Amino acid sequence: MDNEKVFQMDFGKVYELLLNKAAKKGRTKAEVDEVICWLTGYDTADVEKSRSSDLCYGDFFRNAPALNPNRTLIKGVVCGIRVEEIEDPLMREIRYLDKLIDELAKGRPMEKILRKQEKPAMWVCPQCGRSFRRKGQDHYCGKVPETIEEYILSQPEEVQPYLCQVNDAIKASIPDAKQKISWSMPTYWKGRNLIQFAAFKRHIGLYPGPEAVEAFADRLAEYKTSKGAIQLPYSKPLPVELIGEVAAWCERNSQK
Ligand SMILES: [Zn+2]
Repeated sequence: MDNEKVFQMDFGKVYELLLNKAAKKGRTKAEVDEVICWLTGYDTADVEKSRSSDLCYGDFFRNAPALNPNRTLIKGVVCGIRVEEIEDPLMREIRYLDKLIDELAKGRPMEKILRKQEKPAMWVCPQCGRSFRRKGQDHYCGKVPETIEEYILSQPEEVQPYLCQVNDAIKASIPDAKQKISWSMPTYWKGRNLIQFAAFKRHIGLYPGPEAVEAFADRLAEYKTSKGAIQLPYSKPLPVELIGEVAAWCERNSQK
């Protein structure tokens, strides 16, 4: 049958054929409707209306409110034709539906019939094996830091002296606190995270918690702060004394 003849077929009649094919294998009308609605964006009431009108099969697809973008994931052979290779776009839409109903009749579970988008392809760094969304993503290509020293060494060379200063100031101020990496950041810990820091392009982020930021608000006036975070830009000398005092404050107040 040529394409034009298929397009001119009465939608109501085609629907009967699809329904019969599925019903013979024990699938329900609700399932047939679910498949049609998933593919075309019509709702069940629309489908019923189209069945009882004199709409032709081609127009049913031409008028479809929202063809499912994931339908391109439908692949394979139906009625002896490979659907993904059909050139006529309207015919391809029609064969997509044939294929879905065919799968229904073959007992395929609904969640597999209604294709879901696969996860976007990730780029895997050939050196360290970590995966990233963006190809060639800039990253620290080594093992994930497990200590503060490793963290500092994983950062750009020009930033490392700043990180060392921050770390030394905290260490000198709260020598009893345990050093670790938490949320991928250098962390001083005593029963809970007291203070953390991390390197950014233009600043070091210091994270003493919102109460500390509030307590030191006056002396932090010249720095950009947000809830619990202080930005220490590389463009200014690091306020090492203040960092030590903030760390001490965090330790003192951690029990409250
Ligand atoms: Zn890598």
